[in-house]
Amino acid sequence: MGSLVIAGAGYGGVMAGLQFEKALRPFVIVNKHSYHQFITWLHEAAGGRHRVEDYKVELSEVFRQRDSSVAKDTIVSIDRASRKLIGKKTEYPYDYAIIALGSAPEFFGIPGLVDYSMQLRSLETARQIRTHIEQQFAAYREDRDPRRLRVVVGGAGLTGIEFVGELADWLPELCNKFGIPNHSFGIQNVEAAPVILPALSTNLQNKARDILEGKGVRIRTNTKIIKVMQDTVYLESDEIIEARTIVWTGGVRANPLLKEAGFTCDGRGRAQVNEYLQSIDDEHVFVIGDCSSFLSTGRPLPPTAQLASQMGETVAANILAHMNQGVMTPFEPKILGTLASLGRDVGVGLVGNLQTSGVPASIAKELTKVKYLWQLGGLRMISRNRKSIVRGSNSREKELASDD
Ligand code: NAD
Repeated sequence: MGSLVIAGAGYGGVMAGLQFEKALRPFVIVNKHSYHQFITWLHEAAGGRHRVEDYKVELSEVFRQRDSSVAKDTIVSIDRASRKLIGKKTEYPYDYAIIALGSAPEFFGIPGLVDYSMQLRSLETARQIRTHIEQQFAAYREDRDPRRLRVVVGGAGLTGIEFVGELADWLPELCNKFGIPNHSFGIQNVEAAPVILPALSTNLQNKARDILEGKGVRIRTNTKIIKVMQDTVYLESDEIIEARTIVWTGGVRANPLLKEAGFTCDGRGRAQVNEYLQSIDDEHVFVIGDCSSFLSTGRPLPPTAQLASQMGETVAANILAHMNQGVMTPFEPKILGTLASLGRDVGVGLVGNLQTSGVPASIAKELTKVKYLWQLGGLRMISRNRKSIVRGSNSREKELASDD
């Protein structure tokens, strides 16, 4: 029996592993951390909604069959000639590999962004952003430097917009906690394009903008960031914004390992795959999620969690078919909706073709959490996370109380 290695335990990798478990097919899943992180909810973790550690689940809780093996290691290269994934600790020979190594921030060569901005891309960076903001508010009590209470978020895609929504609800709490007048903080979202949330309709974009502006967020479209230095953002209009917290959410590109390993990649570093999610360069390598350039109506699919999960399911079935000289199934993406939270209680988005906004959108978004936890581990996983990330929790309040 050939060996199966999954590189990456994000949404795609985990879903593929669960399918192999169902099929009683042993595999190794290699991941940088011992846990799976809920990346799509990181804005909540960074924005103070619940405890940061609530946004992860140990892989040993997800994969419970004796034959599956979780390796905590970081893949640094792919040796296609000898069919090995090379980790920092050891090598992983494969007959079939699934590359599900996610994405990295896209900086577009903008000077200073790498060094002087923070990015919301992992549990660690969410914790870093959250701690940094809290420290700024605490330090403001000592020196009254107004830059400490200013947050600039570059990019108004889903990540940037969901994050400023969380901040709008959280920063007033920090003001209370540190005895700072509530109107003294400022949140700006700076977007180069004419609109926010380009994935949604004009109607929903306008609703989102109204809701956020109603919560005190300054939304600045047609405003391009051209340089970032320590505590300073430079705009194309020559304006300079001084802020102690600068977060970049201006886009993503695929993990660079694919290009380095010689796979045929698109402009965003995504490896081209055929209809079965199999690399066009190597029939023993399948590429999914943010790493994969799967063309649908002539364009690559967007890098979203729902598509990565669907790809994980298809790819596992296809590898089992390929191994057994069976027939593989073409991947058929189903975009079930797109929902953006705008803080803790409201949101906007599409459920199927139905537009929703306000509290119903927020409830729909919470239901997607329950659905995902169900996929991950049924009732066991839902009840494990019920008191934390799913609506109605008080873990954040407990944490705030224990901080004092
Ligand atoms: P994105 O690419 O969707 O948005 C980045 C935004 O930054 C764009 O609107 C772009 O115009 C803007 N931008 C780029 N350069 C700029 C500059 N110099 N100055 C100002 N603005 C600039 O990135 P994202 O929000 O990180 O999302 C990445 C992917 O992940 C997307 O496909 C998204 O759909 C997906 N995602 C999904 C969810 C969800 O389903 N809830 C949440 C987060 C992200």
